[in-house]
Amino acid sequence: MINEKMYALGANRSCIRELFEYGSQRAAVVGRENVFDYSLGNPSIPAPAGVNEAIHAVLNEMDSLAVHGYTSAPGDLGLRQAVAADLNERYDAGVRPQDLFVGCGAAPELVSVIRALAVENAEFIAVAPFFPEYRPFVESSGGKLVVVPADIPAFQIDMTALENAITANTQAIILNSPNNPAGTVYTAETLQKLARLLDRKSAEVGHTIYIISDEPYRELVYGGITAPWIPGIYDNTVVCYSWSKSLSLPGERIGYVYVPKQCADHDALYAAVAGAARSIGHVCAPSLLQKVIARCVQLRPDLQAYDENRRLLSESLASYGYEMAKPDGAFYLFVKAPDGSSAAFSEKAKQHDLLLVPGDDFGCPEYFRICYCVSRDLIERSLPIFEKLIKE
Ligand code: PLP
Repeated sequence: MINEKMYALGANRSCIRELFEYGSQRAAVVGRENVFDYSLGNPSIPAPAGVNEAIHAVLNEMDSLAVHGYTSAPGDLGLRQAVAADLNERYDAGVRPQDLFVGCGAAPELVSVIRALAVENAEFIAVAPFFPEYRPFVESSGGKLVVVPADIPAFQIDMTALENAITANTQAIILNSPNNPAGTVYTAETLQKLARLLDRKSAEVGHTIYIISDEPYRELVYGGITAPWIPGIYDNTVVCYSWSKSLSLPGERIGYVYVPKQCADHDALYAAVAGAARSIGHVCAPSLLQKVIARCVQLRPDLQAYDENRRLLSESLASYGYEMAKPDGAFYLFVKAPDGSSAAFSEKAKQHDLLLVPGDDFGCPEYFRICYCVSRDLIERSLPIFEKLIKE
């Protein structure tokens, strides 16, 4: 017998993957250059040269058994020390190596943190639009995902909607800033209001309501903005970070969970994160990468190509009459479908081999997502299609 829930998750491909597959099929027919594929968030900026240099250096300098052997379950101490030092330099954060658990990317780290908090009847709140994988992450952990709409069109957090959604079962709110799919960066003001609300509600329900901060896009911000350091604003914040996007290493599967020492029940929570990671066989992130990243924590991405794409697309689309969320971060534009249904609009776009992800799975069906980590040339050649579609 097969577990039906797992079967359904595996058999029903995500809408993004479906579109990506469709794009590959069309490329075989009409040529790769004629498919305007804005579906998948695969970085288009190569990893900084320092990463490849570090890979060579680790392989040349270190003992092969040490490079490829198991590390300790929470990760190499050297990497955790390097990450702690970097975060302390940037945010004066008071991070200790023992607050960090090295993981295989933000996705399994989120699962571990969600599982660590998934007590009976646990509810986890996500702000729509949200990363669709939160649903299987929460539901497969036995929790309930509660969705509250963002404060559209600003796409910040609607505090009233959030307050109304908090119950005695609320364990955490999952935040993602810079946001996939909206490109929004939560302001310090939004986060301070949120912290006040969560402090008040935690006291009211009699237990801590945590923030789970999903941060693979932390450094991908534009126009002089910085993403506020959320544990500095709300003590009970657990961070799930990865180098998938910031160093363009999504296939290498490396990141960390950070449980701040000021978090309520710090030791028990850290142990539960480690235990949850163990329960899904998610211990000992790739050893080579742990050594490499220990030498690369200070590298930052060169965002120029994304920024140029962002400006070209957002300014052109706005000039044709499209409305969109303010694209301050990540590499997504979240655009309002002119006729109100992003699914219908995405179908129309497909006729022109323009692949846009409808917002339904993100909990926002009126908007579609454009992932602009593509070549500038592709954007330039796709613009006339966007213009034609809105005129139609
Ligand atoms: N969270 C968000 C919002 C994402 O967009 C992604 C990947 O696209 C992830 C988590 C997963 O990141 P990782 O590849 O590091 O597991």
